[in-house]
This record gives sequence, structure tokens and C-alpha cells, in this order.
Amino acid sequence: MRVGIGFDAHRKKVGRPLVLGGITIPSPWGLEAYSDGDVVAHAMLDALLGAANLGDKGRHFPPGDPRFKDIRSLRLLEETSRLLAASGFRISNIDVSVVCEEPKLAPHISQMEKALAAALGVSRNQISVKATTTEGMGFAGRGEGIAALAVALLESESTR
Ligand code: MG
Repeated sequence: MRVGIGFDAHRKKVGRPLVLGGITIPSPWGLEAYSDGDVVAHAMLDALLGAANLGDKGRHFPPGDPRFKDIRSLRLLEETSRLLAASGFRISNIDVSVVCEEPKLAPHISQMEKALAAALGVSRNQISVKATTTEGMGFAGRGEGIAALAVALLESESTR
């Protein structure tokens, strides 16, 4: 078994779609990014790659590379899932906390988990997404952006 941690944060930007956990959430603002700005998927990517000791998402999907301009981050999770399988890893589970003052994410959590699980080729109960706030403190609390933390557990087929 191998565990990995991931963190990401993006700045709020008016007029962009808000994509979180692979779904678009109704909002007058989204997150500034080279990709779709999906902090949930990005934190998961780093957790998965970290658990496999395969570097970080910037190494595999460098920002500025035209192949990844405005890319849906679910595609990056699909690609990472293939990479993990090719390296002899199976995903055991992933747990995510989204740090977000608004919008309220509770109505969207189940749809996020479904989209993320489908992209990774795992079952729904292997993916957990939770939302929290910082009670007004810090950048997330002031509504300047959204952050996400993830942990991933992998099972290795070999004894590396
Ligand atoms: Mg990011």
C-alpha cells in the first residue's frame, strides 16, 4: 500500500465556468487556470502521482503546453489512471476536502464523485468528496479562490 497527498488552489475569476470535481457548477465566476481550473481534480492528480512516486502533475501535464490549454481535468485523471495501471498500481481510495466559502457544494457532491470515479475507472465508494469552509479566514474564507486537499491510497501489484 502507498499513500499520497495533493493540494491545489486557484484564484476566482468572473466570467469563467466553475468546474469542480469534473462537473460545471452554476456560478457567476470560475477559477483562473491554464486548464479548466478544477482544483478538486488537480489535488487528486498530485495525490495519485505522489503515492506512485511519479512526480507531480506539472511534470506530466505542464501548464503552458498547448495540449493542455483549457483541457477538462477529467481527461488528466483518465490519463493518470492509465499511467498508474501501466506502473502496476491499483487505486484503493481517494478522499478529498474542498475548501470553499461559496457556492454551497453539498447539492453537487454526489455528481462530482460519480464523474471522478468514472474518469478513474473505479467505483463510487472509492471516491469521497467533502466540502468545508475556513469560517471567513484566509484566502478561501475571503472568497478569493478555492482550495482542495486530497489523499490517495494505492495498492501495488509488485513489492517495490
Ligand atoms: Mg491547478
